[in-house]
Amino acid sequence: MASTPDLSTRNEVRPPLHDIYGRRLHYLRISLTDVCNLRCVYCMPEDTRFRPRHELMSDEELLTIVRMMADLGIDKIRLTGGEPTVRPNIVELVRAMAHTPGIRDLAMTTNAILLAQLAEPLARAGLQRVNISLDTLDPVKFKQITRWGDLDTVWAGVEAAEAAGLRPIKLNVVVTRGFNDDEVVEMARLSLLHPWQIRFIELMPFASEADFARSSVVTSDETKQHIQEVLGPLQPIPGYDGRDPAAPFRLAGAPGSLGFISTISEPFCAGCNRLRLTADGKLRLCLLRDGEFDVLGRLREDVDPEILKQQILEAAFHKPWGNGLADGEVPQLRLMSQIGG
Ligand code: SAM
Ligand code: SF4
Repeated sequence: MASTPDLSTRNEVRPPLHDIYGRRLHYLRISLTDVCNLRCVYCMPEDTRFRPRHELMSDEELLTIVRMMADLGIDKIRLTGGEPTVRPNIVELVRAMAHTPGIRDLAMTTNAILLAQLAEPLARAGLQRVNISLDTLDPVKFKQITRWGDLDTVWAGVEAAEAAGLRPIKLNVVVTRGFNDDEVVEMARLSLLHPWQIRFIELMPFASEADFARSSVVTSDETKQHIQEVLGPLQPIPGYDGRDPAAPFRLAGAPGSLGFISTISEPFCAGCNRLRLTADGKLRLCLLRDGEFDVLGRLREDVDPEILKQQILEAAFHKPWGNGLADGEVPQLRLMSQIGG
């Protein structure tokens, strides 16, 4: 676990959305829906039951919360899920968020299944970038990992994203032992051919899927070693500002780059500037801790907006430091798809 900083120097005068450790929180990841059009083996069971619609934020409620969060200092939003592109009115929601005063950066994490149709309208509505999940280049394995996905559809989505100017493209690769750990070199090779960032992610344990994750995790060190053995040394790219969980590296002569997200082997708590809003309107303070604040519940109780903002500030101030995985504390409330990765 990352070491806890000394709090004795903490500033008693708090600007908006800071936490007790002095981290400025300006990045909100919003899960637009818990529904998905795939069922990746490490993410959710095949027979997952989704939340009834009335439990989820309506468009109006979502945009009200986004405006409040922007007032409190959020300037960067990532839309995720479940699969964000299956949310009805996605293009209109993106347009409204892109025009929210204070929001300067709007991105999405998607499986790209629907991007061939949606990339262009999303870009026109104000979406700036996409991270696309792609764990394998083998169509048979892709079907095994996603349970029914079609790899060609994803490639069409990647092409559409590039054509629409949703750049730079980042590909998220969750490395899962026995499924795609033998393919990390081929995935890394994509950075020699394209100006993309390929990000290798350590598998994290959540609720009912925790045992699978624990037995299938591959550390970033192991992944790096495989890549370097075949493709040569990874050179750190200068200028990394420490706010992205994946420090960038480059293979000699590559137009693209590689990143490694080591949430399990090397938690990123010191640089964490993010909060999460679940599709049912809970502010989740840490991906790997179950503590949440029920923003939607307060909104539906008609709490005065200024009081609700103070309550959000107070909740965020207590954002935890460090996950409890080393002590056997696995998040139990939700799967990754219900939090928004
Ligand atoms: N459906 C979209 C997608 O797959 O890109 C967005 C939601 S998905 C939950 C966000 C990211 O979380 C994806 O890159 C996915 O591969 C990753 N992910 C899902 N379950 C994970 C787990 N247990 N550990 C690490 N990453 C996970
Ligand atoms: Fe769906 Fe994304 Fe989870 Fe795969 S990782 S099941 S695409 S939410």
